[in-house]
Amino acid sequence: MVDELLSIGDFSARCGLSPKMLRSYAAVGLLVPAAVDSASGYRYYSIGQLNQARVVALLRKAGIAVDEIARFFACGDPEALDRWERDLVSGTMSRQRALDEARAALTSEGVSALHAPVRGQKGAGMDHRMEAGVASRTGGRDRNEDAVLIGDRLFAVADGVGGLARGDVASELALNVLEVSFAEDGSIAGLLEACRSANQAVWTEGGASDIESTMGTTLVALAVTSDVGAVVVNAGDSSLYHLRRGQLSQLTRDHTVVAELLRRGELTPAEAETHPYRYVLTRALGVGPEVEIDYAGAYVERGDRFLLCSDGLTKALSQDDFKALLASGAGPQESADHLVATATKRGEEDNVTALVVHVL
Ligand code: MN
Repeated sequence: MVDELLSIGDFSARCGLSPKMLRSYAAVGLLVPAAVDSASGYRYYSIGQLNQARVVALLRKAGIAVDEIARFFACGDPEALDRWERDLVSGTMSRQRALDEARAALTSEGVSALHAPVRGQKGAGMDHRMEAGVASRTGGRDRNEDAVLIGDRLFAVADGVGGLARGDVASELALNVLEVSFAEDGSIAGLLEACRSANQAVWTEGGASDIESTMGTTLVALAVTSDVGAVVVNAGDSSLYHLRRGQLSQLTRDHTVVAELLRRGELTPAEAETHPYRYVLTRALGVGPEVEIDYAGAYVERGDRFLLCSDGLTKALSQDDFKALLASGAGPQESADHLVATATKRGEEDNVTALVVHVL
């Protein structure tokens, strides 16, 4: 009989639950020791309890409360696992939602909690003059479906989605609506509303749910809003880079299948380069009645340089190229020309657009 019993230490080593945990479980009636030495108080477990202990360890790892596990073993509820699984999924979803809301609140409070630019203060971008230059080439395609906007405190690039109808119409329309709508309300709320309106306009122009005529476009924009200063918005794979004192950073996240897989660690950068879905977008304006737009505040200083570009440029040039070309003493127009000319020289087939903004 004694042979079939394990000391708490041996049992712990074999099931992976610490002696402290085992004692606390026993206190609520879970994995109660098979025997306790009445003289020494030592606890002994039976070999037969090992499997149950392993299940308990796994359920704890799945986040199930100890008293629920104890109830499960006491009553043997066969539905329990399904119920836990449902709770897990809905719990994850609501945590995800809360995190998204927290992110949005932090950003719309201005960037505020993150960078703290308030009206008229240094860093908000409202006191700075900005000078822009732009270059765009058709490349090897039939027409240029990229569009560019240099507006009042608003800079944007849109890339009409290839494979869908009238990409050039989609990108132009999106930027026109964005400009008109942002002119009416230059706050961050106005900017996001302008993005929604641009999406709506392209969706409607594309015949709404008529698959045949659906149009789509990417969007990346840098706007100096009236309330929180500089804000970057994007959907799709057009991107925005920021150069300050020799440091280049991408302020946007690409919305492509491959970029999402990379972020989740499911692909290596090397695998991503040749992945068949590397240009497949997960977000674009005009392909649905609503679109999720990423937005974030940008701290702005004199001497900063911003590059807004379509994916034609990012396919042809590396971040080191961007750094070298943006950091040169050239003005924004010369930099934009140089960036696009380099992509052309390297034989880029896609439309290529570069919009360079210097903060003076
Ligand atoms: Mn493109």
